[in-house]
Amino acid sequence: MTIAVVGAGVVGMACARALQRAGQQVVVLDPELPGAGCSHGNAGVIAVDHVLPLARPDVLRGLPAMLGDPDSPLYLKPTRVPGLAGWMLRMAWASRPAAVERGSIALANLVRGAVSAWIEELESCAAGELLVRAGSYLAYETPRHYAKGKIQRRVMRERGVAAQDLHGREVAARLPALAPVYRGLYHPDTAHVLNPRRLVETLATAFCAAGGTLHTRRVERLSMNETGVTLTAQNWRLDASRVVIAAGWRSAELCAPLGCTVPLAVEMGYHVGFDPVDGLAAPVAIAGRGFMATPLDGELRIAGTVEFARAEAAPDWRRTDILERQARRLFGPVLSPLRNRWRGSRPTLPDFLPAIGPLRHGSMVYAAFGHHHIGLTTAAVTGQLICDAVLGRQPRFDPAPFSPDRFHR
Ligand SMILES: Cc1cc2nc3c(=O)[nH]c(=O)nc-3n(C[C@H](O)[C@H](O)[C@H](O)COP(=O)(O)OP(=O)(O)OC[C@H]3O[C@@H](n4cnc5c(N)ncnc54)[C@H](O)[C@@H]3O)c2cc1C
Repeated sequence: MTIAVVGAGVVGMACARALQRAGQQVVVLDPELPGAGCSHGNAGVIAVDHVLPLARPDVLRGLPAMLGDPDSPLYLKPTRVPGLAGWMLRMAWASRPAAVERGSIALANLVRGAVSAWIEELESCAAGELLVRAGSYLAYETPRHYAKGKIQRRVMRERGVAAQDLHGREVAARLPALAPVYRGLYHPDTAHVLNPRRLVETLATAFCAAGGTLHTRRVERLSMNETGVTLTAQNWRLDASRVVIAAGWRSAELCAPLGCTVPLAVEMGYHVGFDPVDGLAAPVAIAGRGFMATPLDGELRIAGTVEFARAEAAPDWRRTDILERQARRLFGPVLSPLRNRWRGSRPTLPDFLPAIGPLRHGSMVYAAFGHHHIGLTTAAVTGQLICDAVLGRQPRFDPAPFSPDRFHR
């Protein structure tokens, strides 16, 4: 019988492709076009250096100062965000040193094979050229930023992330487009995609060409039946043997009626786009500023920052004014007028690990959501893990830290 994937973002389409390539008959449901959600406007980076969870003591300690700074990468809407106080308490609990250590090992397992998983997937779609293997940079503007990055550099070393320490003049020689910085790190194993939206569309095209079905429907409810799961949408229903929930920030509302409560928050992020600039061959993250500058196909994209707001709140375009100001400061007068701006909703769990696997032991419904800042990075690996779980294969690494059930224990 059919396996249904709810959500055609990068995670849902990667799961659908992995299952399809393993010989399964797969249906994907989404009321929007593939990649129209958070996956549309991300920074495009396959961030294999992301091995330290954002739930950790130094991030928590920095929150009050960030909230008081108008140019800060973090913004909390003054209106009440339902559930956020409890979510923050859980984040504090996940920031205990032992939990950070476990989370970091889990993240390292997840990102280690990210580039090779994407290469395999994109080659199967005959679209290998979408992936660029030029590494990425982390720029420290001041000695203070460099000092603050000490923990991150230590953990990256411990997890085996390749990194080269660079002096400011070496950064300037490699990234002449960027204003002078104090120091930098180069990650040779990071990659980026030329167009995040096109990547999802490519997966969707390959999926349909190989016999998969894409239905333009919002799934309203999932219910168990004797042989599997019934998906209900307006005037429509489908019986599936298994269901993968990959509905991004809306995933929790599909899990709750099945008895699985997941504390999923929405972390909004923004991007601004400019004409491409010369002298930026690879993405660069600016330490302490919460954004990346990525040379996409025909566009320089500045993407990042975090805004906690109600999921239905209108975009606050002052956040993109900050990004634009920062971009002009870093790239100077060569920068074109602003070409586009965008806001997306990252689905984030308080321990900053995604939920991947059966809702509970033996369930026929699987989670593939909560990928926060690394959904593009880890989508293809998530597809592999989901495939292993659905087909009862030996997982390629311990999936327990990603269990959607972990918040019940
Ligand atoms: C500014 C910014 C920069 C980022 N940069 C990076 C980066 O460089 N690298 C990286 O790895 N990650 C990055 N991310 C994170 C990444 O974009 C997300 O983790 C990822 O897009 C999440 O993908 P998704 O498929 O889970 O969600 P989405 O892309 O939001 O897809 C979910 C889909 O589910 C559908 N849906 C919802 N409810 C239902 C329903 N009931 N029935 C059917 N369908 C439903 C939606 O319509 C949507 O299409 C960034 C995020 C932001 C905001």
